[in-house]
Amino acid sequence: MPRRESSFYKASEGQPPAQRLREQEASLRILLVKAADSSPAVRAALTSARVSPSSITIEDLQRLPLVRKEQLPLLQSNALPFGGWLGARLGDLRRIFVSPGPIYDPEGHEPDYWGFAPALHAAGFRRGMLVLNTFSYHLTPAGAMFDGALAVLGCVTIPSGVGSLEIQVKTMLDLGVSGFIGTPSFLATLLAKVAETRADSPLRVAFVSGEGLAESQRRDLEARSPLRISQGYAVGDLGLIAYECPERTGLHVDDRVIVELVDQSGALAAGEDVAEVAVTFLSHVYPLLRLATGDLSQMAAGQCPCGRTAPRLAGIMGRIGEAIKVRGLFLYPHDLDRAVARHSEVRRYQAVITRPELADELTIRVESDAEDRDALAVAVAESVQAATRLQAQVEVVRPGAVWVEDKKIVDRRK
Ligand SMILES: [Zn+2]
Repeated sequence: MPRRESSFYKASEGQPPAQRLREQEASLRILLVKAADSSPAVRAALTSARVSPSSITIEDLQRLPLVRKEQLPLLQSNALPFGGWLGARLGDLRRIFVSPGPIYDPEGHEPDYWGFAPALHAAGFRRGMLVLNTFSYHLTPAGAMFDGALAVLGCVTIPSGVGSLEIQVKTMLDLGVSGFIGTPSFLATLLAKVAETRADSPLRVAFVSGEGLAESQRRDLEARSPLRISQGYAVGDLGLIAYECPERTGLHVDDRVIVELVDQSGALAAGEDVAEVAVTFLSHVYPLLRLATGDLSQMAAGQCPCGRTAPRLAGIMGRIGEAIKVRGLFLYPHDLDRAVARHSEVRRYQAVITRPELADELTIRVESDAEDRDALAVAVAESVQAATRLQAQVEVVRPGAVWVEDKKIVDRRK
């Protein structure tokens, strides 16, 4: 039995997985029967795969072509403004946003259109709380995404964006703002500014998105004040995809979408492989089918003790194209991060790939004050091999010796 059902935002978060699949499949059929009429792009996708909207199964989605996120600007400019994917009438929309690309993003009229209420609820946002929403309200949808969710939760929103840092800090302290929404880096900036005033931060819960949240960064920020930081995964085209629960076991996929992990051809990835996130949006407004996001993830195994039964993404591990091939194997920055993070005495690292003769060599330079450098080097090499299947030379250097470039992996092969 779910352990904490009363803490869910909606009862369906704890429903049996088979029931979720049945309900999503029923929603998908109702959606596609209607969208096959109203959306030329949905009609074309179904026709090309010879799938009938009234009898489609979730497995049938695999037969449909992927819609590549990087192709959206071109698809949209060929059939303005939404590439033929709009299920509603243009005049029935509430707002239209313009994301970098440029990509047009439609918003419908339903409350919490972007779906963040369950994510914010899981993060500890409750009725009556004052919340600083530091995402932009202009052109891009992030500000409005959270605004809608805060409204249905009954929170009091201060729409701040990221400018006017001093005014934001004064407002936080004057009003006792206890909730924060924004990027992890802006949260860090804001907390540093509060610390300068020598006042205690009134923030108790924060929800971050838009950039990766390193565990070390979260530990660091949470240690400074009684603050709980949660994260979610979303895209500007359709809003929330998955969110963290208090157990921090990964990101629960929300029922509003169907997530598949796919290879380049659109076939499902095997088991627990790291693969690209493709998402189908169960929305009558914007029924995007199989949007390939370019983000890499893998499914987390086992049940979550929180009682939520939705499948979980283990996290967002980077972008397609970031991996570098070394000795025939793909080396991902997130795998190295995970391997090095197991050694708390390491401050920073940099991996350098060279090819002195015919074979690639992987050298990892780690900064540390550790007394026994040889033992640390052996231990890091073992962790790297376990995470990447690659043998690496590990050099332990003194703090400050690693020249930190943008990339943690530097490719010096000719
Ligand atoms: Zn959970």
